Amino acid sequence: MTEQVCQESIEETWRAVVATACRTAAEGLVVGTSGNVSARVGHLVLVTPSGVPYDRLAPGDAVAVDLAGRQVLGELKPTSELPLHLEVYRSTGARAVVHTHAVHATAVSTLVSELPAVPSMPAALGGPVRVAPYALYGSAELARNMLSALAGRTACLLRNHGTVVYGDTLDQAYDRTAQLEWMCRVWLTAASVPGHTPSLLSPAQLEEAAEQLRGYGQRR
Ligand code: 13P
Ligand code: ZN
Repeated sequence: MTEQVCQESIEETWRAVVATACRTAAEGLVVGTSGNVSARVGHLVLVTPSGVPYDRLAPGDAVAVDLAGRQVLGELKPTSELPLHLEVYRSTGARAVVHTHAVHATAVSTLVSELPAVPSMPAALGGPVRVAPYALYGSAELARNMLSALAGRTACLLRNHGTVVYGDTLDQAYDRTAQLEWMCRVWLTAASVPGHTPSLLSPAQLEEAAEQLRGYGQRR
């Protein structure tokens, strides 16, 4: 019975992982097979395979690894960014991780070491979003750099590369990624107006917005 429930949740989570990965491509946050998505099921992590177009992924293509990175399910090779995904699960309470090469976020990652706080949304990601120093894609060094940049945050940028965002669900990790891309787009747009400098929120204004955000939306 336990085995059965486990199998069902693996199948259900795999469908959600593939749907989220397809969404990153459909909504222009990645091109081709770039980016990757993962979600935690019990002690396992379901991950997209390396270099396979997301719309070709079938229910039987599920790839799962344990937290040590040992492959326990599937024939396809896991994403090359496995170190990055596993580092997030080992170090935080994340249930889902989304990595993209979103255009505005990637452009911002080449310009600054922290995303300037133009809109109040940084509060939704735990504070101003940092840029992790560059390291080769798929490397343990990149995973380490990312982890430092994520301290106290649910998102960071990878220099000259893209975004890493985690959440309690795949939808939350995806939505946070879309918000981050929007914030980067706002800053780039404002900063590119000749003769003007965008006004930034002060730490006190950011704190105030974070407080307000705690009561945002509908009562649970
Ligand atoms: P994979 O196809 O191996 O997931 O790699 C894509 C990527 O974004 C590498 O950083
Ligand atoms: Zn990448």
